[in-house]
Amino acid sequence: MQLITGKTKLLGVIGDPVEHSFSPVMHNAAIAELNLDYVYLPLPVKAKDLERAIAGFEAIGLVGFSVTIPHKQTILPLLSEIAPNAELVGAVNTVWRTERGWKGTNTDVEGFLAPLRTTLRLRDWSQVIPVILGNGGAARAVVAGLLRLGCSKIHVVGRDRDKLDLFKQNWADSYLELDLKVHIWSELSGLVSETNLLVNTTPVGMYPFVDKSPVEEELMEKLPKGAIVYDLIYNPRPTEFLKIGEKVGAIAIDGLEMLVQQGAAALQIWLQQPVPVDVMRRSLLEHLGLN
Ligand code: NAP
Repeated sequence: MQLITGKTKLLGVIGDPVEHSFSPVMHNAAIAELNLDYVYLPLPVKAKDLERAIAGFEAIGLVGFSVTIPHKQTILPLLSEIAPNAELVGAVNTVWRTERGWKGTNTDVEGFLAPLRTTLRLRDWSQVIPVILGNGGAARAVVAGLLRLGCSKIHVVGRDRDKLDLFKQNWADSYLELDLKVHIWSELSGLVSETNLLVNTTPVGMYPFVDKSPVEEELMEKLPKGAIVYDLIYNPRPTEFLKIGEKVGAIAIDGLEMLVQQGAAALQIWLQQPVPVDVMRRSLLEHLGLN
């Protein structure tokens, strides 16, 4: 148990709900390892209270905070400065105080890229044609990450034609060289055999619906040899989607490393020093009963 002193500096996560967030576990484990006088707290904030909460954080000198659903987009106009990658994604997940006010960034992009970079260092990303399942907030971070790797042709699959068109339009406005194609689910069968990176950004298969997969085995069998299946879900580990992927011979990556790395990138911003990523990863695995 950490000792809270009169000088303990405050960090936290805002969202609604935040009760199920794993962030306090990994951040407080890292803070304890570094022996720093900080604490990271769950801070439940309703959508209607966001502006008042931010003003309150200023008043009590909060050092920084993580942002989760439903505030990732609505917080943008309340910040003094937004980092270019958060601008690109259109969402903020990390905020800290500067002399000019609150500054926001999006560490999901870096988090998503970390396991791709370490496990698949030699891949020529300009030849990779990814297919992204889902078109929500995480899908935007994935597109931004893939752009950074050098992918220029990306397929996005969703269930709502209007949302897909909006998603495509948002990118077309800011990234002229990106060839982003959107599809409804019934078109997925024609894409699977053409892709070497299939990324699930939908919550399908997330605990407690652990026997669900966004893609059936019959379709996954069409994946080319050596393809990567990447599921942003970290609980269960592996998901049904990844189990099927491995069964058909693909390389599987789950969402735990993304969670750890986006958290580590945020903590490094707040503490302005290197952070113990291994301790953060271990604390999460222990918490999830997966060690
Ligand atoms: P989001 O903004 O709500 O987007 C979810 C997307 O999934 C939407 O496009 C939604 O479609 C689609 N979807 C939802 N249920 C579906 C279903 N039954 N069938 C087909 N499509 C469905 O959520 P998000 O923030 O992007 O998060 C998505 C997932 O990524 C969650 O599981 C989250 O835990 C995970 N995630 C993981 C990390 C990590 O660090 N590992 C980070 C961020 C997110 P509609 O728009 O049509 O509703």
